[in-house]
Amino acid sequence: MMPGLTAWGRHELERIMKFRSTLFQFFLPPQCPCCEKFLEEGQQGVCSNCLSEIRWIVPPFCSICGIPFISEEIESHPCGACVTHRKYFTMARALGAFEGSLQEAIHRWKYEGKTHLTPFFAEWMAEGLNRYWGSDSLDLLIPVPLHTQRLRQRGFNQAILLVKELSRRTGIPYHKRILQKKKSTIPQVNLSGVEREKGVRGTFHVIGKEELLGKTVLLIDDVYTTGATVNECSKVLLRGGVERVDVLTLAHALRTS
Ligand SMILES: [Zn+2]
Ligand SMILES: [Zn+2]
Repeated sequence: MMPGLTAWGRHELERIMKFRSTLFQFFLPPQCPCCEKFLEEGQQGVCSNCLSEIRWIVPPFCSICGIPFISEEIESHPCGACVTHRKYFTMARALGAFEGSLQEAIHRWKYEGKTHLTPFFAEWMAEGLNRYWGSDSLDLLIPVPLHTQRLRQRGFNQAILLVKELSRRTGIPYHKRILQKKKSTIPQVNLSGVEREKGVRGTFHVIGKEELLGKTVLLIDDVYTTGATVNECSKVLLRGGVERVDVLTLAHALRTS
């Protein structure tokens, strides 16, 4: 109760306060998806502090899977995992290490539906695409597919969001349905590399092979973890008639062992 006010006055005051709070929310500056701090005027996406903490991947790294090497003294060369385990893709590259603020931002984008981050991620990836390939050497962008069941749960496939934006920025065409996931796999977060490889075997297939014949394809996903998924997709694409498969992801998970 607000003493001293008539019923009309109270109603009017409540109306004004409600209007002010709506107005306040409307003009609230956007928040950084990593640390949730309000962004300064004119800033969008990730705040400058979180941005400065992202570990961007630069050489030396594995010339096949792209994992960065700790020592900066050596030249880029194939890492042990790529020597012992055949990779069907020719080269995979990622923008940043999957840790800290980049990991946090990807998590919020993917699981909390902060899809307004897509253009920022795509901008970084377009820069990486130009650095490692250039748009002339690639024929087609293909997203790593999600099974329809997972798609229904999440509401979107993060790889398709990236592919659409990348295609718009680079002019390279994309095909979002040519590679399909035919069975659902169990979440792979806690599985080892070998278990993941077994888990994804026979999971993907291609439709419309004539569109793939002789093409150089760039597979797009958000995170390269053990590489089992993109490797299986690459195998299926090569069998479908693709000439060469390369991979671009936003982040690369660093091996802890
Ligand atoms: Zn931040
Ligand atoms: Zn490697």
